[in-house]
Amino acid sequence: MQKRIVLVPGDGIGPEIVGSAVRVLEKIAEKFHHEFLFETVLAGGCAIDATGEPLPKETVDACLASDSVLLGAVGGPKWDTLPGAVRPEKALLGLRSALGLYTNLRPAKLYPALKDACPLRQDLISGGFDLMMVRELTGGIYFGERGRREGKYGPEAYDTESYSVMEVERIARAAFDAARKRRHRVTSIDKANVLETSRLWRETVHRVAAEYPDVEVEDMLVDNAAMQLVRNPGRFDVVVTSNMFGDILSDEASQITGSIGMLASASLGATTRGMYEPIHGSAPDIAGKNIANPIATILSAAMMLRYAFDMTAEADDIERAVDAALSDGLRTADIAAKGENTLTCTEMTDAILERL
Ligand code: NAD
Repeated sequence: MQKRIVLVPGDGIGPEIVGSAVRVLEKIAEKFHHEFLFETVLAGGCAIDATGEPLPKETVDACLASDSVLLGAVGGPKWDTLPGAVRPEKALLGLRSALGLYTNLRPAKLYPALKDACPLRQDLISGGFDLMMVRELTGGIYFGERGRREGKYGPEAYDTESYSVMEVERIARAAFDAARKRRHRVTSIDKANVLETSRLWRETVHRVAAEYPDVEVEDMLVDNAAMQLVRNPGRFDVVVTSNMFGDILSDEASQITGSIGMLASASLGATTRGMYEPIHGSAPDIAGKNIANPIATILSAAMMLRYAFDMTAEADDIERAVDAALSDGLRTADIAAKGENTLTCTEMTDAILERL
């Protein structure tokens, strides 16, 4: 298969970790007889420096014309004092909106080799965990009507949560589709005992569930979900929820893995294109030192193969190689225990390539 991949390395460690993922993708192309055509574009602080704006039109056009987009990270102290409209983060929101990305997929998996880094008690994670958060990304309270007004007790502020049936249907389908590529189980999180939007959410998820008889569905209230994530994370497969609940729960889920430098994510829309990126930032404190952990970006590239290109065997191969490198005791500095030998970004990438 031939695929055009746009690379948006961004700032800080972005170019180093995207470079590692490209080496892995090139090896996969050779092994499985594909052709990946890469084009590198500017976004974030480096784009501000070069063009005066965080998201040049050429970047958006290139992403729209591509089969998929792999992003490093944007931002850094150099651009922190610029006004809001020219901040590097604008590039992320701009890309999400230009590409129509309304679904955020964030896997949170406990690597057995790194279980000591997990902040939960070992007996709670003895069976491991491997869950996928599916968060609605473009609706709900973050995008609803808001304002200030004079209320019964004086000045007050309000934000409005609203969801259309269409928005819930499409995120539910994304979750059920993801479950079909995993363990066929979806937990839908809401607050249906209080919120009308949650009642609509629940009804709609169940209507969509009827189209997926092979996938088991359950509802859970968000307060219980926050608790279950730290008591028994192994019970979850795919978790689907609204923008705000997902924002909070996906950070909780990533924290319990104990290894943020290893977590990938995908933002998907109505087409298969999507944007794939590590969940961490541009790590300006270690940029240019060749010590960043490339695994989150390499696993984001694996997600791209799985979700954008339907290349399951290829994605499995990358994930297996990462597992093997970790099981062999190889560590970058961020995941090493005290006194353990550490590899550079390049050496960890080499080690993963050797195991592909
Ligand atoms: P960060 O994730 O960049 O860094 C937090 C800590 O984790 C740092 O000590 C860093 O060295 C370490 N770290 C992160 N990724 C690592 C990796 N792959 N390997 C080894 N260590 C790693 O978060 P921050 O410091 O809050 O933010 C730095 C910049 O990144 C800010 O400008 C912020 O706005 C931006 N940011 C961008 C994104 C994005 O582009 N999606 C996300 C979060 C933060």
